[in-house]
Amino acid sequence: MRFTPQKPSLFGETLESLKGQIVAAGHKGFRANQVMEWLYKKRVDSWDVMTNLPKDFRAWLEENFIIYPTAPVIDKRSDDVTQKLLLELEDKSLIETVLIRAPQKGVGQEDSRKTVCVSIQVGCAFGCKFCASGLAGFRRNLLAAEVVSQLMHICRREDAHTDRAREEIASFDNIVFMGMGEPLSNYDTLLRTIRILNAKWGLNFGARRITVSTSGLAPQILKLAEEGIAVRLAISLHGATNEVRQQIMPINKKYPLEVLIPAARAFQQRHGRMLTLEFILIEDVNDSLDQARELAKIAHDLHAHVNCIPYNTVKGLQWRRPSLRRQDAFIEVLRKARVSATIRREKGHDINAACGQLRLKTEKELADV
Ligand code: SAH
Ligand code: SF4
Repeated sequence: MRFTPQKPSLFGETLESLKGQIVAAGHKGFRANQVMEWLYKKRVDSWDVMTNLPKDFRAWLEENFIIYPTAPVIDKRSDDVTQKLLLELEDKSLIETVLIRAPQKGVGQEDSRKTVCVSIQVGCAFGCKFCASGLAGFRRNLLAAEVVSQLMHICRREDAHTDRAREEIASFDNIVFMGMGEPLSNYDTLLRTIRILNAKWGLNFGARRITVSTSGLAPQILKLAEEGIAVRLAISLHGATNEVRQQIMPINKKYPLEVLIPAARAFQQRHGRMLTLEFILIEDVNDSLDQARELAKIAHDLHAHVNCIPYNTVKGLQWRRPSLRRQDAFIEVLRKARVSATIRREKGHDINAACGQLRLKTEKELADV
């Protein structure tokens, strides 16, 4: 299912691909660098302001490209911690992008860390039983331009609120691919997006500050390990044995733990950075102390950090969050086994909870407009 827009967005182009088209149309190649400056450093959203470009070249750009392929429908600051942006695409699909502020101890609010959670597909085909995205089914892959533009919307909005040197750096600190969709099943878009974000002419955003979260597509994890880009990898484990994982994650049939774990290990060894294992705690499904012990073994073996996330209830699904006592007991087993583990309970603070949860809400929110 490939979506072809009426006109491509400039946010999907690399410097080389844009230059190629510019030169082929009889314009000067260096114009591509000027265009990228306007997009990523000055962060403009209209042709008129690109004043150092000749009129005929601007007309050519306008004839062949659009700037933003995504239009904000709702832009709301729900509280000080999370800020959601609902975007409409050309085909009327809706996606959501979230900015999460995690204030750091002893640091002023302006300096608190900002993480942007982006979507990479409309819906998701993997059907994890606890996830609203799985419920919604899969519509289509996003194009790189649709992912990059999510970040640029946030950048523009944050620019207006901060006094950071906007032409130097992005106005947030981390990017996580934890919104709607499975990043490793839209692999080409993922890579093209990362390259554009990374590039000096682009957002100049380091791969080390980008986290890719996957439900465990082992072959693509191995492929990503070989790309030579040092992104962080988070694996949605959610079950420490095949038996438990299979109940809630159909992908486990295709790539069971004995396939997934070696792939994760290969990634870790290639890049030498700690992996993150995400583990949603769901009452009576995966929150037993036995699961905690098995999880501790896996985390040890992979030299991974465990991020426990108390399940966020999704309307229409029967799963529940365990009691605080059960959560504590689970964490205690991990800590006793000397596994680095965190559990975040503050509402909205948890990145996974905040963005792993968007999904169906989107439709509901639109109905509320
Ligand atoms: N498809 C990828 C990335 C998107 S989901 C993946 O599965 O990793 C991002 C995270 O949100 C995943 O860890 C996912 O398991 C989690 N998530 C999904 N639904 C959730 C819920 N109801 N409560 C808490 N986390 C949830
Ligand atoms: Fe898809 Fe990830 Fe949700 Fe599973 S958890 S359905 S892979 S978005």
